[in-house]
Amino acid sequence: MATLTHDQPATASRQNGAGSNNTYDLIVIGSGPAGQKAAICAAKMRKKVAVIERKRTIGGVCVHTGTIPSKTFREAVLYLSGLRQRTFYGRGYAVKDQIAMQDLVFRSDMVMGREIEVIKSQLRRNRVTVYEGNGRFLDDRTIEVSSEEGYTTLRGNYFVIACGTRPAHDADIPIDGKRIFDSDQVHELQELPRELIVVGAGIIGLEYASMFAALGVKVTLLDQRPILLDFADREIVESLCFQLRQLGTVFRLGEKVVSVGFDEERDRVFAKLESGKTVHGAALLYAVGRRANSDLLNIEAAGVVPDGRGKLIVDENFCTAVPHIYAAGDVIGFPALASTSMEQGRLASSHIFGRAMNIPANLIPYGIYTIPEISMVGATEEQLTRDKIPYEIGIARYAELAKGQMLGDDQGFLKLIFDPASLKLLGVHVIGERAAEIVHIGQAVIALGGTIEYFRDTVFNYPTLAEAFKVAALDGLNKL
Ligand SMILES: Cc1cc2nc3c(=O)[nH]c(=O)nc-3n(C[C@H](O)[C@H](O)[C@H](O)COP(=O)(O)OP(=O)(O)OC[C@H]3O[C@@H](n4cnc5c(N)ncnc54)[C@H](O)[C@@H]3O)c2cc1C
Repeated sequence: MATLTHDQPATASRQNGAGSNNTYDLIVIGSGPAGQKAAICAAKMRKKVAVIERKRTIGGVCVHTGTIPSKTFREAVLYLSGLRQRTFYGRGYAVKDQIAMQDLVFRSDMVMGREIEVIKSQLRRNRVTVYEGNGRFLDDRTIEVSSEEGYTTLRGNYFVIACGTRPAHDADIPIDGKRIFDSDQVHELQELPRELIVVGAGIIGLEYASMFAALGVKVTLLDQRPILLDFADREIVESLCFQLRQLGTVFRLGEKVVSVGFDEERDRVFAKLESGKTVHGAALLYAVGRRANSDLLNIEAAGVVPDGRGKLIVDENFCTAVPHIYAAGDVIGFPALASTSMEQGRLASSHIFGRAMNIPANLIPYGIYTIPEISMVGATEEQLTRDKIPYEIGIARYAELAKGQMLGDDQGFLKLIFDPASLKLLGVHVIGERAAEIVHIGQAVIALGGTIEYFRDTVFNYPTLAEAFKVAALDGLNKL
């Protein structure tokens, strides 16, 4: 059995878990963000910890096919397409004329390689033993790890299941990884398609749609839902749609896809819609959601019952119905972000070993890395209206900020939502350059129960995008 890092290496090809060497205070299944942080948190409390990872390399979807590659791909798109520079140098400007997939993927591969080294080193430093193989429960305290090299049985006092998700496939969708592909396969594409159909306008579908559109690919976005990102601020979503249309994206919302296939004669892929229309393209990205990997764990042997979509149900401490088995990360569902998964892993371990903490839901930020970027924290206008809570808003437009001008973003804006009586900050919504960075200023003020007077009375570096908070606060105060 291969161990990637070890303080108690397993040696034989079939081992018995009865020995104390293979008994751990905590066994974590999966080495994505949730698993890593659960393991390290427990190791820091001097617990004996093992991580089981079935892939040959550490890091989970986050490092291999999700967050890290997609966000690095985005940076490469922004750089090579010269999109932001076009405000100054004209619509035809690009750093590289013929951008190939290899140019984009090259950067991702480098960043992924470095991230893997960082994670391995963190686990090694914290003396976490990593077992390479597929973990499956034999009973609620015993796990068998199988790999090409054999089997090892491990015993655990506690478990954190952080096995993540994979793209949801439909038997009728002929995914070949070349012309019809899912989000895990984007980076394996040999060439950039001239036209792309994206089925599924969730976060992943939208992010990739905008990246390909920024590269000059003609994108058609299909979704049966009539509105995009229903949890986000409507004005922000409208602005996103406007800017994506400017990049040539065609939206077909409220349209159900009934079949997808390959037209041999025309050498094109197609998506047939319930409304009778057929959309053609050179390639198709199928991004209709993800399914939990809990079906790979023989989880029933441990007494844990997943829901119909494989998700695990946990309480506020991330504990399943079995008191010594916890679950964290994408396998427990929404919000299914690397950022929240890490925190859930940490919180699960903290609870197990008696140092319970929590994260207030209103402080979780969301970053959507479309082009343009979106980020938000706290309440939306829609939520407050629904809950009959009075509010006022203040807006700062990037076009009015010197830094916005310098960066070539004249469409971005930041919206503050606040209580008109107490002036307490209730929500922050941003679209535009570095939205996901600057939103944290608002997050800190909400966390500390602050008012928008803080922004009015604080000197910000100039020129910065952070200055948007001051401009928006003044705008809001002027309305009272
Ligand atoms: C295209 C894309 C873009 C994304 N962008 C962002 C973003 O910008 N920001 C953000 O915060 N989030 C983003 N996410 C989400 C983020 O990647 C996930 O939320 C995060 O990876 C979930 O972490 P996790 O630890 O729950 O699971 P994962 O990262 O999925 O890791 C689970 C691990 O468990 C292993 N495993 C599964 N079953 C077994 C088993 N039986 N035995 C052993 N090992 C097993 C798997 O091999 C995998 O390595 C993105 C996701 C995708 C797909």
